[in-house]
Amino acid sequence: MLSGSVGWVTEPAITYLDHAASTPMRAEAIEAMMPYLAESYANPSGSHRFARRARQAIDESRDTVAAVVGCRPNEVVFTGCGTESDNMAVGGAVSRLGGTAVCPAVEHHAVLHVVERLGGVVVGVDNAGSVDLDQLVATLDAEPDVAIVSVMAVNNEVGTITDIAEVSRVVRRHAPGALLHTDAVQAACWLDLHTVTPHVDLLSLSAHKFGGPKGVGVLIERGGPRVDPLIIGGGQERERRSGTQNTAGIVATATALQLTDAERDTEAVRLAGLRDRLVAELQHRLDGVIETVAPDRKVAGSGHVCITGVESEALLYLLDEADVCASAASACASGAMEPSHVLAAMGVERATALGALRLTLGHTTTEADIDRAIEVLVPAVERLRR
Ligand code: PLP
Repeated sequence: MLSGSVGWVTEPAITYLDHAASTPMRAEAIEAMMPYLAESYANPSGSHRFARRARQAIDESRDTVAAVVGCRPNEVVFTGCGTESDNMAVGGAVSRLGGTAVCPAVEHHAVLHVVERLGGVVVGVDNAGSVDLDQLVATLDAEPDVAIVSVMAVNNEVGTITDIAEVSRVVRRHAPGALLHTDAVQAACWLDLHTVTPHVDLLSLSAHKFGGPKGVGVLIERGGPRVDPLIIGGGQERERRSGTQNTAGIVATATALQLTDAERDTEAVRLAGLRDRLVAELQHRLDGVIETVAPDRKVAGSGHVCITGVESEALLYLLDEADVCASAASACASGAMEPSHVLAAMGVERATALGALRLTLGHTTTEADIDRAIEVLVPAVERLRR
């Protein structure tokens, strides 16, 4: 069973260090959603009392999300996932305003592929993966008609935090007509969103990254509708996102976000300690373990390393055999391993990038998980190097 998870998950003793991919749902969130699956299942758009109960639960959840994020309730749009929120922000801005979309090269594909498809401009990053502000200024000065700039608050692979307030100053000055969107999907566990939201027009979240369910996203549209909706039909979410709302998922999302917010400061200290011990111990016991981004530039849960002389894929196989869950982001393209687009953009050498290992911690991570990861990783690397 996962440490800290609900009792009826019958997994073997898994060491789960893949929280950036998805987090275990919080027991309180599961509990909060159950009545809306089993009893209050009415369509929240209906007119009877039963439907009003579901609608009220959504309204209360919207209030909770708005309070944590730092916006007004009517600026919260519930969507179907983080990818949808990102697609709506970038695609919807270009659809509404015309003009160009701009983003840094390390964005999640949910932003990057939209910008590329729309023929937008992709700008470079520094060696920690944060947008190169000089390049951003040059791009904004050169492009006559920028509709939207999208810059992630926290990178999903290497954990780098970008100062969105600083990005905002650049965008407001050099492209005053453009919208600024931030993909804050990986930020909710680690950053006080009140320090991010005031600087942007649009902000995306995904519930399963903070102990909520899969299949619920949030798009904050500050100051009213800013972009065209992606999904049209019945006009739910005040015409911003059609489709019958996922009442149970939305209730669980608000519950998980509120808990995450309340525990954020203590969890960040606890998990940074565990992450630092994990990386230090690997570096002590093995040569060639390179911490990809310095701890002071990234979130507490991110333990990304590049291990020389091994290939991620083989290492992940051995970890999986020992029930240690981690990930790497190299993609297998045309039969050959390709380094991730994030590491490539950061200028990490190809040979180094092929040994990338992403170990990400979260609310269920314990000292014992760290001990187990070290116990499995060290001999696995030694074996692959032999
Ligand atoms: N943006 C970032 C930074 C992410 O890490 C992810 C998920 O990995 C997404 C967007 C997509 O979120 P979802 O899985 O809810 O579609």
